[in-house]
Amino acid sequence: MANKFFKKKVHSKQDDQLFRELCRNIGSERVKRDGASQLLYSRDGSAFPGGIPGIVCFPETTQHVVDCIKAANRHDRSFVPRGAGTGLAGGAVPCDAPLVISTTKMNSILEVNYEKQFAWVEPGVVNLDLTKSLSEFGFHFAPDPSSQQSCTIGGNVANNSGGPHCLAYGVTNAHVLAVEVVLPDGTLVQLGDIDGHMSGYDLRGVFVGGEGTLGIATRIAVKLTPNPPTICTLLLDFMDVADAAKTVSAIIAAGIVPAAMEMMDKRIVKVVEEFVKVGYPTDAAAVLIIEIDGLSDGVRLETEQIKKISLDCGARSVRVASSDIEREKIWKGRKSAFGAVAQVQPGYYLHDTVIPRTKLVEVLEEVYEIANRYELIVMNVFHAGDGNLHPLLLFDPQEPGVMDRVLLAGEEIVQVSLDAGGVLSGEHGIGLEKKRFMENFFSKEDLAAQKLVKDAFDPDGRANPFKVLPSGASCSEVNHLSQLPDGAWV
Ligand SMILES: Cc1cc2nc3c(=O)[nH]c(=O)nc-3n(C[C@H](O)[C@H](O)[C@H](O)COP(=O)(O)OP(=O)(O)OC[C@H]3O[C@@H](n4cnc5c(N)ncnc54)[C@H](O)[C@@H]3O)c2cc1C
Repeated sequence: MANKFFKKKVHSKQDDQLFRELCRNIGSERVKRDGASQLLYSRDGSAFPGGIPGIVCFPETTQHVVDCIKAANRHDRSFVPRGAGTGLAGGAVPCDAPLVISTTKMNSILEVNYEKQFAWVEPGVVNLDLTKSLSEFGFHFAPDPSSQQSCTIGGNVANNSGGPHCLAYGVTNAHVLAVEVVLPDGTLVQLGDIDGHMSGYDLRGVFVGGEGTLGIATRIAVKLTPNPPTICTLLLDFMDVADAAKTVSAIIAAGIVPAAMEMMDKRIVKVVEEFVKVGYPTDAAAVLIIEIDGLSDGVRLETEQIKKISLDCGARSVRVASSDIEREKIWKGRKSAFGAVAQVQPGYYLHDTVIPRTKLVEVLEEVYEIANRYELIVMNVFHAGDGNLHPLLLFDPQEPGVMDRVLLAGEEIVQVSLDAGGVLSGEHGIGLEKKRFMENFFSKEDLAAQKLVKDAFDPDGRANPFKVLPSGASCSEVNHLSQLPDGAWV
């Protein structure tokens, strides 16, 4: 549906010059500024209404990226790196007509070294495509965001993305050995090293999670993770959410770190079951999906331990998947959750905060109370093992005034998480969405230190401006979110 907020940008003389220069340097077939492209690249997977991209570029080589950034510098323009646009914090939303530099055509797996267990990939490689290409050799790329069918490795690196299996394996930062980066002035550097022998500051680690504000990743050396020899998936159901939360804490306290530990509340279980019919118990207050992997003896032992712990904590039943088909069915439900909610309402706003595991029950109760007060439906499906909450606020974008309520409820959910000792984001990043909360979480000194990092990489403030740090100017298109006309969010 058309984005009513989107206004087509009228091209200035300077735009024309930049456009011609880009066409000359990287080829006119890789440069777009027609209305359709501007509309398509005006937003990402977040609830933010579109910004306005200036010119959209589709580089196919590192040199093309260098050329784009150098042209942006010559014309005093900012740029926004973009992968698949599945980000949920507005990180790829263009503010004030920057160059949008889409890496989707840089999608080759350049080198795979199974012996040393690494691969060099271009940033536009889709996460699941990488894992699929490795599977016949017994490897995978461990970070597995629920968006893995679409999101790119470049986006994963920029957002330091996680996924269900990052509980045991760690988020993206733990799986990136080196990154080739075009800095905001067009200089090409490599941060990190495939042998992992680094001296000096770990600038690779600084870049990962930089949300496109420190430059553009053009090649990434990722670690390959061997597929585990044995996997066991369990579906546990509870008549009380508190018992499910207690089970999560008790498992970790017993020294077991499952590969994944995901929780779904009653409401989401019901819509998922109606959507994909995978055998979830729709009368349960909560279900847990727990996966253990490793050597078969260890997996067998931990499965027995988990069964006992969960029954002691009040689980009504524990189902152990007896085949790959059953395992896949259990995961299919979890992975279909975001699609399934469309049966209830056409729009959702997905939050992402992390809270201490011990506070799960009280924070969830507050989340339900907040949603009720704002007359919104909320469903919870989240990475329980590391306390990474994902409340889904459902709404119909056509309903007048609904977005005000969604935003206010979201704001309260973030504050409740912070008050419980949590943090702003587990994996979706800060982007535009959470920068207004940065001052609630970081001290002035912390923020000033972070600004120094940004300035060291990007002294002219050209790379993905208006994102992450609360200081400086604000993005005019999305500044006054609650004052947007009704329907602007469609
Ligand atoms: C249904 C759904 C489920 C999701 N589940 C998860 C989940 O389980 N875990 C999770 O962590 N996230 C999840 N996400 C969020 C999102 O998919 C991830 O943040 C993902 O890594 C973004 O990748 P992308 O290619 O879409 O990046 P984009 O959205 O295009 O960009 C994201 C950010 O990265 C920057 N960027 C992109 N490419 C580069 C590059 N080459 N160099 C520098 N900066 C770059 C952009 O400027 C932007 O700030 C989910 C999203 C959806 C829609």
